Amino acid sequence: MNSVLQHDLNNFENILEKAKQHGIGFLNNLENIPTSTKATIEPDRTLNELGLGSLEALKEFNERMAPLMVASPGPRYWGFVTGGSTPASIVGDWLASVYDQNAQSIKAQGGASALIEFETINLLLQLLGLPKSFMGGFVTGATMSNFTSLGVARQWFGAQFGKDFAKNGITETINIFTATPHSSAVKSLAMLGIGSQNYSVIKTLEDNREAIDVVDLEEKIKALNGKPFILISSAGTVNTADFDDFVAIAELKEKHNFWWHIDAAFGAFAAVSDKFKPLVEGWENADSITVDCHKWLNVPYESAFYLIKKDHVNLQIETFQNSNAPYLGNPLENFNYLNVLPENSRRLRALPVWFSLLAYGKEGFCDIVESSASLALHFGNALIEDDSFELLAPIRLNNVCFTLKGDHNQEKVASFLTLLNDGGKVFMTPTVYQNRKGIRASFVNWRTTENDIKIVIEEMRVTLSEI
Ligand SMILES: *Cc1c(COP(=O)(O)O)cnc(C)c1O
Repeated sequence: MNSVLQHDLNNFENILEKAKQHGIGFLNNLENIPTSTKATIEPDRTLNELGLGSLEALKEFNERMAPLMVASPGPRYWGFVTGGSTPASIVGDWLASVYDQNAQSIKAQGGASALIEFETINLLLQLLGLPKSFMGGFVTGATMSNFTSLGVARQWFGAQFGKDFAKNGITETINIFTATPHSSAVKSLAMLGIGSQNYSVIKTLEDNREAIDVVDLEEKIKALNGKPFILISSAGTVNTADFDDFVAIAELKEKHNFWWHIDAAFGAFAAVSDKFKPLVEGWENADSITVDCHKWLNVPYESAFYLIKKDHVNLQIETFQNSNAPYLGNPLENFNYLNVLPENSRRLRALPVWFSLLAYGKEGFCDIVESSASLALHFGNALIEDDSFELLAPIRLNNVCFTLKGDHNQEKVASFLTLLNDGGKVFMTPTVYQNRKGIRASFVNWRTTENDIKIVIEEMRVTLSEI
């Protein structure tokens, strides 16, 4: 063995201890670590001939890299839809690296760790109140979950014409309907060879809504004259957390032939609260659902899952199977993840979620969701009370979409947000909503409290006085 590796091997415990101390230093100080940084590096370091060993590398990391880190798992990082990481989720994430399994198979041939993934998906179905007719798997994010789901939808579309698109390529025009798709669903259409512009936009409901107008949807369906289509619907749009009417869509599905996909990246978690559950009523009738765990479930990044109805498993295997050989035996018995999703080798990505669900239970996640929603209202009310801001949409769940009051202030929105974010106390993202420049604050982090809102409102006032 190489001598530096040997030295590291002998010092494994000490090395991990130092890394742990470093991690604790970050986590215990999150409140004070800025949400943005001006620190930078020249990313052109020369690779050394002789290795430094882990401890020296950690030292260099502390000096050069740590200053680049912002408090994105902290309580005032409200940009995008960014969750944090709970203690249990970090334990699961660390142990996934320690055990370093290749989670593929459920049979003990070189490891059966995919069973942990099966169990985790079952726990998630219970958390979300969804039936066992769904089968799921972990991918890196909602983008890949949308990609996986829409990949199977593409195969389903071909099958309606007796075609196998996975084998022979796309030979029919695929009809796609959607109202307010997330950019990653559109990106998935590009990656799937369907084309990022090849979808028809369904009208949204009047009165400041981003949800599908089901009447318009039905008209567009009728114009297809019985041809199949794929519907991409939303449980939680990023700007205003709006939800499509899943009961009405389920009724349409009784009458018409389509693949129904729901992007529920963060909105899925409405289901864990009795208060918000009605928002997803009827969603169990979908063919596929996308859910992110690194958002509202508060696990570290690269954690999302797809749910696809078990009835479609053969289409799923046709889409993703890893060899041209026909699948041997019963696909559910000889199950191997590499035949049903994009990746072949994959880490034990379910473990942080498994730990989180066991550690905090239904009640823990219900509390996170309800507290996030009440913080969003609290922040919204504080904005309304302050004469300088206005809401661009009502607060439906956990996202607050607002702007500087009055059209004459539109050109100041960007500089206000830049200055606010530069202060490092809070981070929010810019957006455009109904042709107006706005700002979006998303509440999903388990650490956020009313005191954080107080800090942010004060910071916003100071920033306003400076622009
Ligand atoms: C965040 C988000 C995505 C993309 O998720 P990633 O995890 O960033 O890949 C897709 N859809 C919705 C509704 C989202 O909020």
